[in-house]
Amino acid sequence: MHTNGPSAPRLTDVGYIRELLERHGFRFSKKLGQNFLINPSVCPRMAQACGATPDTGVLEIGPGIGVLTRELAQVAGKVVAIELDDRLPPVLAETLAEHPHVKIVQGDCMKIDLHKLLTDEFGERPVAVCANLPYYITSPIIMNLLESRLPITSITVMVQKEAAQRLCAQPGTRQAGAVTLAVQYYAEAQTLFSVSRGSFLPAPQVDSAVIRLTIRPTPPCAVKDEKCMFRLIRAGFGQRRKTLVNSLASAGYTKQQLAAALASADISAGARAEELTLQQFARLADCLTV
Ligand code: SAM
Repeated sequence: MHTNGPSAPRLTDVGYIRELLERHGFRFSKKLGQNFLINPSVCPRMAQACGATPDTGVLEIGPGIGVLTRELAQVAGKVVAIELDDRLPPVLAETLAEHPHVKIVQGDCMKIDLHKLLTDEFGERPVAVCANLPYYITSPIIMNLLESRLPITSITVMVQKEAAQRLCAQPGTRQAGAVTLAVQYYAEAQTLFSVSRGSFLPAPQVDSAVIRLTIRPTPPCAVKDEKCMFRLIRAGFGQRRKTLVNSLASAGYTKQQLAAALASADISAGARAEELTLQQFARLADCLTV
């Protein structure tokens, strides 16, 4: 491990960042969600919160110019960072020159075989995910990490405040959505702290929050057919104002089938998706699975 001594590049100093990026001919891409962290207190807190130690590894998504990567490198035994923008690896080679246990992988985190990457790079070492996620693709990235059932311990990520509220909502509240229940199935979700829009260069239109999803060793409820349960959750929240008898018809069931299944699962005939817990969706799915 290396410490970020006085000679280390000042990655939260706007003047330094502009000079660095200009030297590399880099312009921010809105399309890739490039809002780099410039608040010096945020990255050390995130690195701490992800629970990395010299015996563990960290997978980062979207290192940008390496401001979080460098903090992760201070606490973790190894860091692997996936960056889509092929203009950034030369910048990272400069900013992370002092950290040989950081590896940059250029590619799309949605297309890379993450199981293989984790096995190849970390072997048996426990791995945490830590990232300031590109906002255009927050939920797909989180769902891909969870649904792939990667051997990871937790996901500590910066997301838009509204996304944080949805991902960490209590079921049965207005903020809850399909993604809330999906996350609950795989992890325990917690909002850690808020981060103002002024903490980024360029500043986005909205504030952010850091959340931590601690992966559950086993799901909180048993269900015969997970796919069926998630189909029901998506269909139910897709038309959340309708009662389940009406909204779940789009998942391919007749009203008679749904009314009978709701009765067997002991759920009110007039219930809407947002009133159900994950356990109730699991029971309903079991009643619809032959
Ligand atoms: N970690 C840096 C920081 O905190 O300053 C940059 C965070 S910025 C919000 C998101 C980063 O994700 C950008 O560097 C962007 O190029 C990268 N990115 C966008 N889409 C990606 C994808 N599909 N796979 C990997 N990286 C991606």
